[in-house]
Amino acid sequence: MQITAAVVREKFGTFGIEKLELTDPRPDEVLVRIVASGMCQTDQHGRDGYYNTPYPAVFGHEGAGVVEAIGSGVTTCAPGDHVVISFPWCGVCPNCRREMPSHCMQGFDLKMRGTRADGSTLMSKDGTPVYSAFFQQSSFATHAIANARFVVKVRNDAPLELLGPFACSGQTGAGAVLNSMKPQPGDSFAVFGVGAVGLSGLMAAKIAGCDPIVAVDVHDDRLALARILGATHTINHVGRTDVVAEIRKLTGGGVRFSLETSAQPAVFREAVEALMPAGTCVLLGSARGGTEVAFDMAFLQFGRVVHGVIQGESHPQVFMPQLVDFLMQGKMPVDRMMTFYPLAEINRAAAESSRGRTIKPVLRMPH
Ligand SMILES: [Zn+2]
Ligand SMILES: [Zn+2]
Repeated sequence: MQITAAVVREKFGTFGIEKLELTDPRPDEVLVRIVASGMCQTDQHGRDGYYNTPYPAVFGHEGAGVVEAIGSGVTTCAPGDHVVISFPWCGVCPNCRREMPSHCMQGFDLKMRGTRADGSTLMSKDGTPVYSAFFQQSSFATHAIANARFVVKVRNDAPLELLGPFACSGQTGAGAVLNSMKPQPGDSFAVFGVGAVGLSGLMAAKIAGCDPIVAVDVHDDRLALARILGATHTINHVGRTDVVAEIRKLTGGGVRFSLETSAQPAVFREAVEALMPAGTCVLLGSARGGTEVAFDMAFLQFGRVVHGVIQGESHPQVFMPQLVDFLMQGKMPVDRMMTFYPLAEINRAAAESSRGRTIKPVLRMPH
């Protein structure tokens, strides 16, 4: 079928809106009419060639929409169902077998290779392949095909255009708290960086009953939003060298949990140094390969844990419907951090996100 998609034709290129051909779903695949897709930093890094995804390529990995058709073997959803497309996993590696799909040992390759696992592409133009299947979905398009395992059915009374970001940034931030940290009511919590991932973690910390909840960032407007969403204390990092001391002071010796989302080594170090003994820092910030950080060994020896987390260590079929319920209960008002753009304005969305003007861009698809 013919679809409209945002295509990147070269490294550091821009997104161009083009008509493409999309193949038919295989027996285990689902065709989704995308209503809206969130945009992550990862899409821009993909555009710029960080992951060696071949060009021309279609990115996008936070797609939400309506099932239009299913393959003959699909039993988990039906045409008309509302769905969000989550991250891919292989299902057979040692980590998949121990129920840790987010740490799938093929996960990175399945996300970035631009083809299905068997090397086939989903999209083409005039008979020439377009590398698609980014995160096994490529949701910057009017339609996407995904394996049914990664397609999560959600309640149909939830506003679909708000749900796409649960697939990556929402699941990553909220899952880091609810699945990885598992805080108890009254546990202290600090988040470093309140972009879409950090704010999702902060809202989850509020749901878990954490207190105090400290937000650290360099933008006053984001810190103001963090307050609205549940932060009890905010610290603007600009011009300050005493952030760790401040957090120790207001928690009486350090936080039980810290969440690092900035991907900056100096901030990561602060997120660890802000911990109480036997506290845990979850690392979400995605730094380029080769980035190093130094810690005092003695500091780590006192029971402090650094835990790297991917995709919120979530089981999407269970966790994403929970997040949608939180949204519908008013406990996770993700719309507060979203800015909507038509697909045709995807380059403006990317630029405003890079400049920090937009926290979470969401692209509405033309239909
Ligand atoms: Zn696997
Ligand atoms: Zn993402």
